[in-house]
Parts: sequence; structure tokens; C-alpha cells
Amino acid sequence: MSLAQGREFLAIPGPSVTPDAVLQAMNRPSINIYEGEIVETTQSILRDLRSVARTTARPFIYIANGHGAWEAALTNTLSRGDTALVLESGRFALGWGEMAAQMGVKVEVLHAAPRRAVDPDAVEARLRADAGHAIKAVLVVQVDTASSIHNDIAAIRAAIDAAGHPALYMVDVIASQGCTAFEMDAWGVDVTVGGAQKGLMTPPGLGFCWANDRALAACRTADLRTQYWDWQFRSGGEQYQNFCGTAPIHLLFALRKALDMLLAEGLEAAWARHAALAGAVRAAVGAWSADGPLDFNVLDPRERANSVTTVLSGDADAEALRQFCQRELGLVLGLGLGQFAGRSFRIGHMGWLNAPMVLGALGATQVGLSACGIRHGAGALEAAAAQLAAHLGAARKRQAA
Ligand SMILES: *Cc1c(COP(=O)(O)O)cnc(C)c1O
Repeated sequence: MSLAQGREFLAIPGPSVTPDAVLQAMNRPSINIYEGEIVETTQSILRDLRSVARTTARPFIYIANGHGAWEAALTNTLSRGDTALVLESGRFALGWGEMAAQMGVKVEVLHAAPRRAVDPDAVEARLRADAGHAIKAVLVVQVDTASSIHNDIAAIRAAIDAAGHPALYMVDVIASQGCTAFEMDAWGVDVTVGGAQKGLMTPPGLGFCWANDRALAACRTADLRTQYWDWQFRSGGEQYQNFCGTAPIHLLFALRKALDMLLAEGLEAAWARHAALAGAVRAAVGAWSADGPLDFNVLDPRERANSVTTVLSGDADAEALRQFCQRELGLVLGLGLGQFAGRSFRIGHMGWLNAPMVLGALGATQVGLSACGIRHGAGALEAAAAQLAAHLGAARKRQAA
């Protein structure tokens, strides 16, 4: 018997649930790609992408997933033989570094302690030792989607400054943008890399880079530059140059709608909503972990992401759980990636998400745990509900005061 008939619930860390209004915004014919509405839509998106990243830096929109935006950031700033320092905290920064290595960049990895975020002091020490400034770029993710580590982007900038090091600071916010505070300008980020399909609630297919003046200056001498990704070509001022060819018309319609929704809610409100819903997920995982094999991957509660939670399953078969939840319950959980394959599952909690969606996902996960015979502590759903009630109760009191 299966209980999966009904709307399947996607609780993977990207793509996230696409709002109905965003899907509907795509349901119309193509338009002229050279003038009229497409120009206005492109310009308004470029303006609002600045707001979303809290920057005056120029955004670039690629018809690409996050990997494409990674490649754009690298090719526009680096030359063969340059060194990039990759700050590891899971899987994703490593992947970005592997891409750089294949292009001929020398890649050095600074490892974090197991299940911990990047240590800013270690970054400072490594950069101080690079007296000749061979390191041209520092690469880090704000949230690692495999480990669910959240890195302190402002603290890492402070470490780079304390070392007096001129390397470009490049930050991947693909799994955190729209979900968690990010201040490109205030935090001194030189290149921000994003994608549409996670916190930005848009179907997959758009990647973004924001490049500040230092990054645009690096672009003038980067010998890895190629035409499709090229920031200079794309800054040429003609509409078609924004996309180096045909605009992704329907994805732009979708993104326009998603940005309208995000900005109507308010960026801070969206960050606060993610924090509250993540609190509910953590309350449930904490309760489950009190008995049996389950545990948070991230050891320090302050380093847990507000957009995804990686749950270690010890000797229990996480893959069987995941398959059961999808087949029998209509809940799609994220699979364990890299070193976590088979021995973890991930709950995505990013984007267009409210309390019933999160509580439903937690309830269905608990059904799966019980049905699959995975031992777990009691009271997870009580704890999740109490967490949200406390959060909203406190907000209500603040409003009344
Ligand atoms: C999802 C993700 C990527 C890769 O994005 P794709 O669209 O799958 O290419 C890169 N970095 C982070 C942090 C991600 O979460």
C-alpha cells in the first residue's frame, strides 16, 4: 500500500518547490528578444538582483546551472598558473576547485575540521604565510549543500584583511541566497556566485555572478576568459550581449515573478522565515537523535545552515528510508552526497516554504523512520511545533509592545 497519491513534496536542497505563480508566469508565448518588454524585464531583474545580493556590483545572468556560474567566476578572474585557495567545508567548494584545476589553475585546499565550518584563523594564518601573494583568489561557499555547514562570510573577510592579503574573495551563495543574511558589499565580497533554483524559487537553468570593481579589473587581464562567460562582452550595452545570444525568455518571466514575491515579502522577512522553519527542523532532528543512530552532521549548532539539514544515519540505511519516503509517502528527501552517500539523508528547507510544508515533511519523515525500523527519539513533532509556536509567540509579543 502507498500513501503517495497527492502532491509530491520536494524536500531536496535544490531545486526547491516552484511557486504556482512562478510556473504560471512562464505560460505565455515568446517575445521579441531585441526590444520592448525583454529589455525592461532584463533591466528590472539586473536591478533587483543587486538588491538580493545587497550590492551595487554588476550582476551577470547565465543560461546555466550553478556549475556554469562557477566557471564564469573562474574564467573571468584567473589565468593559467594562478593559485586559488579553496576553503573546504563539505563537497561544494571542492567541486569548484576541481573545476579550476582542470582549467590550469593551481588549487590548494584548506581543510576544515571534520563536521565544522571554515576556521577564519586558519585562513588568516595561511594567507600571512603567502608573503609573495601567489594566491589570487579565495573560494568558499556560504552554505555547503552536502554537509549543511554554514560558513561565516564576514569573519573570513576579516581574516583576509587581517593578513593584508589582496586575493579576490569569491563566495558561492547558491544554497543560501534568499534564505540567510548575505551582504556582498558590507562583507567585502569581490565575486558572488548564485543560482535561480534554490532560495530564488525559479526553475533550474539560470546562474548568476556579481562582480565588483576589483573583480572587473581582474577580468581585463584574466587569460582564462572565453566569450560566452565574458563580463566585458556582456557589459557592452546591447540587449543581446546581456545573454551572449538569445535571452532565456521564459526563465526570465519566472525569475521576474519570483523576485517580485521575494521582495514583496522582504529579504529580511524571508531570512527570518527560513531561520524559524530551520529551527523547527533542528528541533525535530534533535529529538530523533536523542535515541538511536541519527545525528546532526554539523557539530556546532551555530554552524548549521538555515536552508538544508544533513542527518547522519549511522548504521541505519538512509537510502532505503529515502526511497520508502518517496515511494510510499510522496516525500522526496535529499540523498547523501560524496562522503555522506548511503549514510545520511538531507532535508531541504529553502525557498517557497511555510509551516505546513515543513511540519508535513517532518511528520512524513518520522513515519518513514518508524516504518523502516530506524530507531529514533520521541517527541520530534511536538518539539518542532513548539519551536514555531515560541518563535511566533515572541514575534506577536514584540508587535504588541
Ligand atoms: C546546488 C549547488 C551548486 C551547484 O549548482 P548546480 O545548479 O547543481 O550546478 C553549487 N554550489 C552550491 C553551494 C550548491 O548548493
